[in-house]
Amino acid sequence: MRLRNIAGSREAITESDYVIHEPKTCKGRWKEIFGSDHPIRVEIGMGKGRFIMDLAKMNPDINYVGIEKYSSVLIRGIQKMEAEPLPNLFFIRMEAEEITEVFDHGEVERIYLNFSDPWPKDRHAKRRLPSREFLRRYDEILVKDGVIEFKTDNEDLFQFALDELKPAGWHLDRMTRDLHHDEEMMQGNVMTEYEERFSSMGNPIFKYIISR
Ligand code: SAH
Repeated sequence: MRLRNIAGSREAITESDYVIHEPKTCKGRWKEIFGSDHPIRVEIGMGKGRFIMDLAKMNPDINYVGIEKYSSVLIRGIQKMEAEPLPNLFFIRMEAEEITEVFDHGEVERIYLNFSDPWPKDRHAKRRLPSREFLRRYDEILVKDGVIEFKTDNEDLFQFALDELKPAGWHLDRMTRDLHHDEEMMQGNVMTEYEERFSSMGNPIFKYIISR
């Protein structure tokens, strides 16, 4: 998601208390940052943040971190937090490639990838968030029985993500090629901004849940 540059968004982010400004100094210290032992769940590529904010509201006993690389998008989440602050949620503006420098082994309990950029060119496959390169990074930070939940409406990206599992040594726990018509997997589904937009256009939503 790339919005036009919003004047001052970088400055507003620099000053926000809802943003972790030096995330690399938090590695191994996340319980201290949140002030609780609760499990930590991370959304990578949170966009404007509706999904992770709804989850944080519904589950006060779980701590959440939303990661987004663009200030122009993240600013929307910050504005919503200013209107309704949530004590169990922080944002980080960063590139996901650096995630192992921000979280230590076993510090994360679950990772959400929602409508990740498809990077359709073969030579960009490594940049796709469900690629084996990224799965290796997630393996480093997730607890032993941690899971990744991935949703997309992009069939090619979903197929790529499925094909990456075996070479990366991950197990497919559950999957659907039409989430909104899958009663079981739809239970407790929290919609993302992209999910609402694409499903209302009639696109089926693909989802998997994987573990090691
Ligand atoms: N999850 C939201 C937004 C999906 S668009 C939703 O479902 O509505 C994908 C988002 O991921 C964009 O905002 C993009 O800037 C962000 N993103 C993509 N690659 C990223 C990366 N490598 N690191 C951090 N954020 C990334």
